[in-house]
Amino acid sequence: MNKVAIAGAGFSGAVLAHEFAKHGISVDVFESRDHIGGNCYTYRDEETGILIHKYGPHIFHTDNEMVWEYVNQFSRFMPFVNRVKACFDGKIYSLPVNLHTINQLYGTSLSPEEARQLIETEADLTIESPVTFEQQAKRFIGEKLYKAFFYGYTKKQWGCEPAELPASILKRLPVRFNYDDNYFSHHFQGIPAEGYTPIFEALLDDPRIDVHLETPLPKEHSSEYDHTFYSGGLDAYFSYKFGDLAYRSLQFDEQCLDGDYQGCAVMNYCDYDIPYTRITEHKYFSPWEQHDKTIIFKEYSFPASREDIPFYPIRLASEKKMLAEYVKLAESLDRVTFLGRLGTYRYLDMDKTIEEALTVADRYLDSRKQNRTMPVFVCSPLV
Ligand code: UDP
Repeated sequence: MNKVAIAGAGFSGAVLAHEFAKHGISVDVFESRDHIGGNCYTYRDEETGILIHKYGPHIFHTDNEMVWEYVNQFSRFMPFVNRVKACFDGKIYSLPVNLHTINQLYGTSLSPEEARQLIETEADLTIESPVTFEQQAKRFIGEKLYKAFFYGYTKKQWGCEPAELPASILKRLPVRFNYDDNYFSHHFQGIPAEGYTPIFEALLDDPRIDVHLETPLPKEHSSEYDHTFYSGGLDAYFSYKFGDLAYRSLQFDEQCLDGDYQGCAVMNYCDYDIPYTRITEHKYFSPWEQHDKTIIFKEYSFPASREDIPFYPIRLASEKKMLAEYVKLAESLDRVTFLGRLGTYRYLDMDKTIEEALTVADRYLDSRKQNRTMPVFVCSPLV
């Protein structure tokens, strides 16, 4: 047949399609939404011309040079450093937690060494190996910083007590004893000059690739294709047989205003009684452009139902049991591979998604050459 089906036109699906077409394989891409690019989709607002990140801002950051070179083939990336501000109790602070944040919150002018000593006295050293988000915070930054910047924000973002969440969520953020306020620590950081959509157009631009928008993967499809690659929800694939894997979704309350709204790209609102988690001002994600007007998104987090767009897999202990059941069932299938954030129910940044899609593509091309079975999961959901 020399033809495969791919469900989803986000980074997982688009990278796979590109790699397969390059190797002479025909590809049908099925995408339920009316556009390509998944949650990375960007467009220009008609009235203002501002580049909008429809599903919230995406900043590309990676230490993986191979992935960085890969994406740079499809777009010119502009340098972009994310300098997030936080609003807590009516005052503005620097994030991620750095020497400036510590001095602001404590009303001090400590040196790096003094700040380190202060946080050591604040840290709860009785917590030897933190398991939960709360333990991780109390162990490494102490109660005061935790309560100011993490407790309320995390409760809003995840809809539960930080004591119920895994420590790994907090580990995504650095704590620095200098004035470096770059939100990410990665070597390569940027945003594509014309947004992400042109990258997806370029990835999918091949006569061997047919993209079917507003078309879910057809139920009876397997006889038409050598293999199916599925980047949608693992639970949805099995019609939620064992229940729904929990996700948080986001609602963006959009406003178009004159001038400048907040003077930065991202302002986090850390108080629990402010209902949104953050406000993003989109023209600040393209600082190389000039716009008189501005567009802001107030971001609200809520539990995703089946109709909502899933953003963050929650992965509480109870879901891991359900996940294991889905994984077992999936592993009994033949000629299907699951990948990506939804297909493997893991929080994945764009760079990791691309890296894994390239690995899956290589593995499939190899398995065809050597006449070997392609695994159902190349990257396990059970990590
Ligand atoms: N977080 C927080 N306060 C902040 C920023 C982050 O409590 O001001 C917590 C929150 O639980 C969040 C996690 O740290 O989910 C990871 O932050 P990151 O900025 O990576 O979240 P993302 O941008 O992926 O939503």
